[in-house]
Amino acid sequence: MCAVDSKTDYSNFFSDDSRKYLDELFKGFKETVKLELYTEEGPHEEFNRFAMNICRALAALCDKITLEEIPFSDERAQKNEIIVSPTILIAPDKYDLRFLGTPSGEEGRAFIEGIHLASIGAESISKSSMKILNMLQDRRDIKVFASPACPYCPGQVINAFKAAIGCPEYVSAWCVSTQENEEMAENYLVGSVPHTSINDDVAFVGLEPEDKFMAQLLHLKSLDEIMEGQGVFEESESEDAEVVDVDLVIIGAGPAGMSAGIYAARSGMEAVILEKHGVGGQVALTPKVENYPGFSDVGGLQLAEILSAHARIYTEIKQFVDVKDVRYGETIEVETDRIVYRTKGILIATGVDVKTLDVPGEKKFYGRGVSYCATCDGNFYRDKKVYIIGGGNTALTDALYLKKLNADVKIIHRRDKLRAEQALKKSVAAEGIEIIWDTVVTEILGEDSIEGIRVRNQKDGSESVLETDGVFVAIGHIPNTVIAGKLGVEFDSDGFIKVDGAQKTSVPRVYAAGDITGGVRQIVTAIGQGSVAALTAFQDFSVMGD
Ligand code: NAP
Repeated sequence: MCAVDSKTDYSNFFSDDSRKYLDELFKGFKETVKLELYTEEGPHEEFNRFAMNICRALAALCDKITLEEIPFSDERAQKNEIIVSPTILIAPDKYDLRFLGTPSGEEGRAFIEGIHLASIGAESISKSSMKILNMLQDRRDIKVFASPACPYCPGQVINAFKAAIGCPEYVSAWCVSTQENEEMAENYLVGSVPHTSINDDVAFVGLEPEDKFMAQLLHLKSLDEIMEGQGVFEESESEDAEVVDVDLVIIGAGPAGMSAGIYAARSGMEAVILEKHGVGGQVALTPKVENYPGFSDVGGLQLAEILSAHARIYTEIKQFVDVKDVRYGETIEVETDRIVYRTKGILIATGVDVKTLDVPGEKKFYGRGVSYCATCDGNFYRDKKVYIIGGGNTALTDALYLKKLNADVKIIHRRDKLRAEQALKKSVAAEGIEIIWDTVVTEILGEDSIEGIRVRNQKDGSESVLETDGVFVAIGHIPNTVIAGKLGVEFDSDGFIKVDGAQKTSVPRVYAAGDITGGVRQIVTAIGQGSVAALTAFQDFSVMGD
């Protein structure tokens, strides 16, 4: 059945670091997972080849993965309603999980995790999610539109895959790569990824926590519309969850958390890093980094991979794990879906979330013209007209990225001076990107999709309407403080966690590092703070003894 020639043929497909990660992952496999790869000769040949190589490499490396390569002419292609080449079915004997397109970049992460989940089966799904899935009485066909550069996408694809694994009778889950399936993405009005369509009817944009995703799936309504108080989000699972003892729980796998993981482990502490999305934090969303010493020009995602590969040598990074609760006491308990970590201390490195404009039309057109992630959604705006809002490093970096994708880009900034660094200002000027000064967006306009923006000049108060295909909002961030709030740490007036020079918060044995602490918010400072926090924790715990 498996078309793999020999184990050595594909052993170099993955980098050494990825191999190490995969080898660990494969150890947790239970059932054998069959992959069916459907391809048809034609314009997608390059994508077909990549899909074939990744499938062959996985089958060669893991004796619990088998592969069958099937041409479109085979009757099974029709029976399984295969519509695009390549398409990969994961464990078709048990589930309807499929990948439409080539699983590259972040999508590759989702694909591999999907195979892993199919091997583990329903065990991978939380009790609260299973409770919701058990209420399903009719079909849910899920399509998650993703892109290779979107770090939020794997989380949403995994939510969908879990639903299809937990309830194979009613749920199918397809991941659609927008890279090769542009027409399909257009038909589904995808303007931001992840974009989730259920029954080709209801659509949600963005990544949701697992239990909220399941609730939306059940009710076929957005979260805003689902009445609270139904109890679907409230069940605590700590009673029979596995308990794991560690010295330090690091929450967040951005630069701060990953650097802390390295320093914690090298000091002799047992640490774990919990991350609800993919690794990298804001870095993974940055198209290009030019100011991290040692790297004059590196992609944000690539830098995130380099950092995580290094951190993984020392510490386990648990991705797509949501911290549900924290309980502070002599030992601190950190509750996730399936495990309660008992720990001496916590390092909060949960970073920041994007800030929104809060103007009429912004919510309505999120995913249909309004975006907060140029790396994720830039592809939809090739040859189109876009405005970037903001005057900081993110706005300028994103403008340069979109310009490279051949978008017709202009920046709108509320003042007459940019906040961004000189090097970026020079690059923007060199690219001829126009900046509209002293101007704010007051409304996003359109019927079914975005048509324009209403803007106001701050100096003379004049208003005008600018036609556009898209708006990228890059006006800074708000700190992600839910966990910190539960632990009772003090915040500064801007809502960032207050820390001392040793990265201690106001609560003993709770440390914070990275963007969540405010300040200059650079990769290099986050990394420094992460290392200081881990070393401080080590000193504190040494005094405490065992
Ligand atoms: P930022 O530095 O806080 O800049 C936000 C920009 O948005 C400012 O220009 C601000 O205007 C504007 N703004 C804020 N609220 C607004 C509103 N309601 N309406 C209109 N405009 C608004 O945020 P950032 O650019 O995302 O950068 C965040 C951090 O990440 C910074 O420390 C930055 O250096 C770092 N970063 C670094 C790089 C890099 O080095 N390659 C890349 C990206 C980010 P004002 O200027 O008037 O306040």
